Parts: sequence; C-alpha cells; structure tokens
Amino acid sequence: MELWFSEYQTKNVKISFRIKEVLYTKESKYQKIAVYETEDYGRLLTLDDTVMLTTRDEFVYHEMISHVPMLTHGSASKVLVIGGGDGGTVRELLKHPVSEIHLVEIDEDVIETSKKYFPTVSCGLTDPRVKIFCEDGIEFVKNNKGYDVVIVDSTDPIGPAVGLFSVEFYKNVFDALNDNGILVAQTETPILFPDLVRKIYRDMSSVFPFTNMYTAVIPTYPGAFWTFTMGSKTIDPVSKEISSLPVLETKYYSKELHKSYFILPPFVKNLISE
Ligand code: SAM
Repeated sequence: MELWFSEYQTKNVKISFRIKEVLYTKESKYQKIAVYETEDYGRLLTLDDTVMLTTRDEFVYHEMISHVPMLTHGSASKVLVIGGGDGGTVRELLKHPVSEIHLVEIDEDVIETSKKYFPTVSCGLTDPRVKIFCEDGIEFVKNNKGYDVVIVDSTDPIGPAVGLFSVEFYKNVFDALNDNGILVAQTETPILFPDLVRKIYRDMSSVFPFTNMYTAVIPTYPGAFWTFTMGSKTIDPVSKEISSLPVLETKYYSKELHKSYFILPPFVKNLISE
C-alpha cells in the first residue's frame, strides 16, 4: 500500500510526498509533531501537518535567513533566534565568529525531536556558544536586550506565532537590538499570500528606518518562492559593502549574489509599494 503525507497549502492546493515510513508522531503542548522518511526529499519534519523542513532542501532556508543578515551587519557577536527549534539556523550562524547565540523556542519537544531525528540540522545546538530558552519569544524580547542580529525563524502566523507578526513585536525587537542592529524574519510567499506579505512589509517599515525584502526558492514551501524581510536600524543593506569575512561551506547563499538578493521581481516590488 502506498503511503503519502499531504499538506494543504491553501484549501485548494496540496503538496504530497510519498513516504517510506512514519518515524515519529507526538501531540506536544503546542502542536502535532511528525517525522517522515520520504522517497525523494529525505527526512521531513511537519508541525500541525505543515512542512517545516526536509533534509533535501533545508539548506536554502537556513542559509538565507542567517548569512544575509550576518554579512550585512559585518560584526555581529550576540544573536537571538526566535523559533528555529530544529537548529538549522543556529548551525549556519555558528559559521560566523559569534560569541553568543540565544535560541528561544516555545516548544521543547521540537528541539528534542530534531536532536533525535535530524542530527545534521540540530548539530549546533550543543555548541557552548548556544543558550536555549524554552519560552515564548514574544515575551522574551520584552525583557532581553543587547543583540546585534535578531532572526525570527517562526511557523506561519497561526497559534503561538501570531504575535511574532505584529507591529508591537517589531517595536520590541527594535528596542532589543544594539545601535546597528538588524532583524530578519521569514515572511511567507507572495505567490499564494500577497496580502499577508504586503502587510508584514508595511508593519516592519513602520518601525525600522531601512526595510528590505529578499527572496529564495524553497521547493517544499507554499508557492516554492519565499520572502524574508530585513529591518535595519542604521545599515542600508543595499548600499553597504558586505563583510569581507569568508563564509564557509554554503550551497545556496553566495557572496557574489548577496546584493542581488534584494533586487525584487516586479510583481513583488509592486506588491509591497502598493
Ligand atoms: N523553517 C520553518 C518554516 O518556515 O516552516 C520554521 C521552522 S521552526 C521549527 C518554527 C518554530 O517556531 C516551531 O518549532 C515553533 O514551535 C516555534 N514558535 C512558534 N511560535 C513561537 C513563539 N511565540 N515563540 C517561540 N517559538 C515559537
């Protein structure tokens, strides 16, 4: 009998993976966690039946959410990751000379699942520079400050992640950042959710002097075309020379392409300037 996992990306669009085996399922305090071994995309992590990562294409998302802000900043030492319990973003951040990474993941079970089933993704979580807090990131930023870069590696704006997409949260992140600080958030797909992408851009630009969107191709996410939005206090990512520090072992991010990531296709440019 064939076994398939399907995610409803909208009520009329599904993405399906033929799976070899269901490795793990658990109802945590916050969400349904599942791990599948797929035929073509390696191992798949889902939360509430929504794709979080596959071992085949996770490098795109994790490299782009990390290296673009880190090399734009140029000397980030203290970094905060909100969400990101799988550890992929932390793994990429550790390729930079950081002194401290704080990971604030609301659901401890996501961290434990990743440690057990995704060793190539979670490998940085035991690094001594990484401190893990199993708390709500919305509250955490109100009480913790002094970060050079804040990365919001969250689920979609549903359940506990809703507040991570609000003006109030962006204001609190602004206050938690040092003078040259940079925020980057995963900000959904303009193919299927244009209104949401426009709203996020507007909200973030009401708080940050420089707000710039960039994109990447992520085959297993809705629309396969994903945005990230950067809010910056003083550094203009488009005019600043990027750091000369080398970045080791990337498969998608490239320093040669760094500035071009911020050049948006006309339909996205028009969408956010409406
Ligand atoms: N790359 C992923 C994506 O876009 O599909 C995101 C992956 S990561 C696993 C997202 C994490 O954000 C989840 O583990 C979830 O528990 C966490 N999360 C959601 N809301 C949160 C909040 N308010 N504070 C901290 N973590 C939160």
